[in-house]
Amino acid sequence: MKRIADSLRGDCGHDHPEVKKTALLLTLILCLSSCGKPALEYRTEAVWPRVPEVQVVLLKDVDSVRLAVHAPYRLVSVSNGKTLLWGDELGETTVAFRGGELMLGKDRFSATRVKIISRRDGAVELNGTRYRGEVSLVAVPSNRLNAVNRLNVEEYVQGVLGSEMPSYWDEEALMAQAICIRTYVLQKKLEHKSLNAMDLAYRGTANENWRLNKIVVETRGIVMFYSGRLFYAYFHSTCGGHTEPATYVFGGKDLGALKGVECGFCGGSRYYSWEVDVSKAEIEEKLRKKYPAIKGLSAVVPVKPGPGGHYSAVKIKYAGGGLEMSANEFRLLVGPSKIFSTALSAKDRGGQIRFKGSGWGHGVGMCQYGAQGMAESGYQWYQILRHYYPGVEFVKVYE
Ligand SMILES: [Zn+2]
Repeated sequence: MKRIADSLRGDCGHDHPEVKKTALLLTLILCLSSCGKPALEYRTEAVWPRVPEVQVVLLKDVDSVRLAVHAPYRLVSVSNGKTLLWGDELGETTVAFRGGELMLGKDRFSATRVKIISRRDGAVELNGTRYRGEVSLVAVPSNRLNAVNRLNVEEYVQGVLGSEMPSYWDEEALMAQAICIRTYVLQKKLEHKSLNAMDLAYRGTANENWRLNKIVVETRGIVMFYSGRLFYAYFHSTCGGHTEPATYVFGGKDLGALKGVECGFCGGSRYYSWEVDVSKAEIEEKLRKKYPAIKGLSAVVPVKPGPGGHYSAVKIKYAGGGLEMSANEFRLLVGPSKIFSTALSAKDRGGQIRFKGSGWGHGVGMCQYGAQGMAESGYQWYQILRHYYPGVEFVKVYE
């Protein structure tokens, strides 16, 4: 899921009368269904006695890392609990593991797993980014290391919210976004899976601010349930008019709330419609990293469209053969900032292929520009979420 760094109203400049008509109809439907209801839309069910913790793999299999601590700290060996180093603060120092030893600048310590504990939350800095909670460095084979951050879910949501949605967007859209993030991460937690930096855009405290943190506090513990359970609350930048059932994009079984709905609120996104020429040579080079058989690429043909217009698969034709792959995989391999979505057409232009498409992202779950469009039209967070995830209920799973 990508960061949206663009302005609220994009510069696509197109008029979309059909979108306006849909938006008006939806406005009427939602108004009729919500008028007279109280604003409190969630119930409390203490699934967790306190805020659970999550583990995020920040760096995997890297040679070294730059570490700094901006408050009194201790560097502790995890295997024996021994404090290896302590001080009032630590200036930026390169850390690596070599031959079973930790190298911290010119100092060497016998340790293969260390944690950095600081008295002040958010004081530990890795490669220029500060993190809340506890940071560990773990030796992995061939003198490499992993960096792992352990923190509570609310701190994690704070660290993701401003990286996934611009902090100046409408409060109701940001509240809906915070609840999506929390629902997603707690589903991962239930499945005992670690998060990595690719799951959601987690940037430590880099994109936090008082407004976003207040929104996280206001939605504290609130998640979405579908059929009494958490689920992966996927979201994306711009659907281009209609979101897509998860099964069409990711395969597998029907994921309940992720059915695909008409949006009608993201016409202002600059990614609502787009066009890009990509050379066949570039596509071939990128696909060959995973599919080395592709040589002499001649055509890309989108196949199996879903109800939202996003294709499930693409056929790749090349000299002496052809293969079919998931359209989303194709988009990610060629580059998600080049092929913005899988709702596209592909036209042969000799050495190049012209892709014309709509939307940005996989198209599953909440459309972020649509959420902002709904918020600007006066909808509240629970109306936004019920629109994009039909049939959900809201539950506060811890105090
Ligand atoms: Zn949309």
